Amino acid sequence: MANIRNCVIIGTGPSGLTAAIYTSRANLNPLIIAGLQPGGQLTTTTEVENFPGFPEGISGPELMENMRKQAARFNTEFKDGRVVNADLSKKPFTITLESGETILTKTVIISTGASAKYMGLKNEQALIGKGVSACATCDGFFYRNKIVHVVGGGDTALEEAGFLSKFASKVYILHRRGELRASKAMQDHALKNPKIEVIWNSVPIELLSDNSGLTAVKIQNVLTGEESIRKTDGFFLGIGHTPNTHFLGKQIELDQQGFIKTHNDVETNIEGVFACGDVQDPTYRQAISAAGSGCQAAIRAERFLAEHS
Ligand code: NDP
Repeated sequence: MANIRNCVIIGTGPSGLTAAIYTSRANLNPLIIAGLQPGGQLTTTTEVENFPGFPEGISGPELMENMRKQAARFNTEFKDGRVVNADLSKKPFTITLESGETILTKTVIISTGASAKYMGLKNEQALIGKGVSACATCDGFFYRNKIVHVVGGGDTALEEAGFLSKFASKVYILHRRGELRASKAMQDHALKNPKIEVIWNSVPIELLSDNSGLTAVKIQNVLTGEESIRKTDGFFLGIGHTPNTHFLGKQIELDQQGFIKTHNDVETNIEGVFACGDVQDPTYRQAISAAGSGCQAAIRAERFLAEHS
């Protein structure tokens, strides 16, 4: 009989690693699978100033490395590789990695996070790193005294615009409507910033480039249909995130935006399968709230195992 694990955690962002710390301290010997972006979205940020316990702030990668070490200290087992399939139709559950390896487990904690959405413009992917970015905190530094455009009208777009204004000479926000979606506080902050200007009712329709990278963005006014070309050095996406749930097929209930639906905080529609962090959180998307839900998932998994052994 193949080895059946107590708990497999998929994803190594703050929620997954917190779940690993808690389940390993509960002697469940969890296995955590790193996925495509070990450490999650925080590894692409610079300074994290709002995670409690670090009065001077801490870099995103360092915070994640600390969490990883803390989970390792209590005998969490780590595995690299991407999960391509999870058969949750019968117990024990079967997790399949890209390498073909299969793992049997009594409980699963899904903490696969969410990835930034792209517009799907021609050349967009090819220009990543050459003017196109979905992470202002990672790449903003390269746009000192340059002109950048940010697309989106929510908190992400405005936060990116604010961050970019520290470096860039001018930040234009391209928004498809005449009203921002972002919170009032964020709007006040952004609209007061002399470096930030919103271009209303407009969408990008083409990215223009030469051998060195992005040179301009062609936009269209959605009310008049008028098109114009705007010179730009950077094009930042701020149009939201897509939860990483593709490997689950239709087994787990999702909401309309694709986030995993949970009840009792972290329980999915399948008993023994829990979800935590950004993959089930369309609202807060903070490292600390992700870590909190990782703790909840671990405690629920522990109780589930106690009740079903
Ligand atoms: P949102 O869904 O709130 O906003 C996405 C924005 O992008 C909207 O303005 C939307 O336009 C626009 N958009 C979406 N698709 C397209 C498209 N194809 N073309 C053009 N524009 C498009 O996502 P966010 O990532 O901004 O925020 C998600 C959640 O995370 C929110 O709850 C937010 O409050 C939270 N958050 C909080 C932060 C903080 O407090 N510091 C920071 C970042 C996020 P439209 O408005 O027309 O729909």
